[in-house]
Amino acid sequence: MKFWSVSLCVFSLLTSAALPAQTDDPNRQLAHDIFKQLVEINTTDSAGNVTAAAEAMAQRLRDAGFAAEDIQILGPNDRKKNLVVRLHGRGAEKPLLLMGHLDVVEARREDWTTDPFQFVEKDGYFYGRGTQDMKSDDAIFLVTLIRFLKEGYKPDRDIILILTADEEGGSSNGVDWLLHNHRELIDAEFALNPDNGAVDTVKGKALMVSMDATEKIYADYQLEVTNPGGHSSLPVPDNAIYHLTDALDRLQRYQFPFELSAVTRAFFEQMSTVEKGQSAADMKAILKTHPDRAAEARLAHDPFYNAMMRTTCVPTRLDAGHANNALPQRATANVNCRILPGHSREEVRQTLIQTFADPKVTVRYVSPTGTISDQAPDDKGAAPVTLRPDVMQPLEQVVTEMWKVKVIPSMNSGASDGVYTDAAGIPTYGVTGVAIDIDDVRAHGRDERVRAESFYQGVDFYYRYLKAVTGGTAKP
Ligand SMILES: [Zn+2]
Repeated sequence: MKFWSVSLCVFSLLTSAALPAQTDDPNRQLAHDIFKQLVEINTTDSAGNVTAAAEAMAQRLRDAGFAAEDIQILGPNDRKKNLVVRLHGRGAEKPLLLMGHLDVVEARREDWTTDPFQFVEKDGYFYGRGTQDMKSDDAIFLVTLIRFLKEGYKPDRDIILILTADEEGGSSNGVDWLLHNHRELIDAEFALNPDNGAVDTVKGKALMVSMDATEKIYADYQLEVTNPGGHSSLPVPDNAIYHLTDALDRLQRYQFPFELSAVTRAFFEQMSTVEKGQSAADMKAILKTHPDRAAEARLAHDPFYNAMMRTTCVPTRLDAGHANNALPQRATANVNCRILPGHSREEVRQTLIQTFADPKVTVRYVSPTGTISDQAPDDKGAAPVTLRPDVMQPLEQVVTEMWKVKVIPSMNSGASDGVYTDAAGIPTYGVTGVAIDIDDVRAHGRDERVRAESFYQGVDFYYRYLKAVTGGTAKP
């Protein structure tokens, strides 16, 4: 995933300049080389090969001195194998899991200024598919483990890194597969997932760092109306398209209830100190025991804040009729919902049915593989993770040192592989050290790029943060 950013109303609140990267040159060079190598291995679902990327990274680890038995390449088929590597610690605690996906979203050469599968260095940026989502983070994880091994660093617990397939799509999700088939290899007390979280900058200057502590649930629903149809010269009121558009009108006017969790409360508390004026006052007002409805309505005008406060559903596709001169026999729409943790997909399906209040409109659940059914899953998504001090305090410390801004706990309104680990009882924290300008979010888009300096800062960040989380001290 990786695509959200805060709204632009906080634009004026720049507090500090980004520091120059503090990594020494050999590590920069190695990080650069691994990043380039990863971008240049096509890992799209259509034509790419995740296994090739996993093998290349395994070779890097072997070359760096990792024992063969600590490196595994496994998966359900030849193209979608995942890498699992373990750095042994002192065993004082249950392991820590680092997770990154190797696959990337499709990219067509003709849409791009540069070749998406060439690592192009231009004007202080690195261009290529995956530079934001998320081969930069994959490379950072790899180089950090290699540095730790070379230094002889012993973390207080084992650090396991998985680089996996099919986060963006495809039918071989690596995290799900590993949890079901090799749980023992990746079992951990908690996980860090840089696919979530953000270092938000404006022209390279830090605004805030967000840490995703929970995720919404993804669901698609198919709305369908059928009708005997007939000749369009003799229209009747009972028309499939009218039924469908009436239902969509009701959906447009319907708002799911306002609801805050511990994480989104913390988010608005922190944001109220970052925002200014009316927005800051509104955030304070919705946190009261009796939330101010007018304040909530004003905040809801911002799509990002709105998504933090409620489940959302929106039509994303529409298809109706079969001829210009015939009454429609069938009209369908896809409605995409992002559901707050604590609510099930079936609960939302029932809410849609009640909202439409039209028995002619059937509402069916569409599974991720496209199966359509009259019943949606009942599970309610994992509860937000607790903000563990041993994760949060080192994070706040390193973020303050590097960017001099706050860490804001947040909820991912998209979806990432964290849904699998959270559901499996491995609480997952979205933490990244790669800064992206809030008006330069290009994940999944054309000419995806990352500022070179941001990448190197990310290298520095994870080295320092991982050491702080595992009981070590980073060399200055
Ligand atoms: Zn991603």
